Amino acid sequence: MIDVRSVPRRAGSMTEMTWTTPTPDRIGAEMIGIPAGADVVFDLRLESVTEGILVTGTVSAPVEGQCGRCLDSLSDEVTVHLTELFAYPGSETDRTADEEEELGRIEDEQIDLEQVVIDGVATDLPLTPLCRPDCPGLCQVCGVRLADAEPDHGHEVIDPRWAGLAERFGNVGEDSE
Ligand SMILES: [Zn+2]
Ligand SMILES: [Zn+2]
Repeated sequence: MIDVRSVPRRAGSMTEMTWTTPTPDRIGAEMIGIPAGADVVFDLRLESVTEGILVTGTVSAPVEGQCGRCLDSLSDEVTVHLTELFAYPGSETDRTADEEEELGRIEDEQIDLEQVVIDGVATDLPLTPLCRPDCPGLCQVCGVRLADAEPDHGHEVIDPRWAGLAERFGNVGEDSE
């Protein structure tokens, strides 16, 4: 919530605001998000325009999650860039916008940024977070993290057609160094 009483209602006037506040709830998706209690840094510019207040700037916070390939925990940072118009009650924009349209409004001299931040974070965070861009993931056979495994990690895969033979003659392929 930003109190906008300090923002002059004169088109063209600008107020810059920077503050930090902990998020009461976790924000984000299943695999990655801003943990509850983490500090969210707001660095915003509030510009009075005819119809309301245009909010631009960034909201940044630490994120914690899980790599979508190797399931390792990861931490990162998210920065959401905002450009959002909040209309004065009764302004042309307010009256002409239909209910479906997600128009921000100034209510009781206050701007509620919560939904904007939640939507912004959801858009910005990857659906499949990775601990690193080239994360090799897990071995499909034994489930070991390939990043931790030997570079030539692999398994001798015996063609099922030969499996019967292999059983009869001992483990063909293994110990053949
Ligand atoms: Zn990974
Ligand atoms: Zn393996």
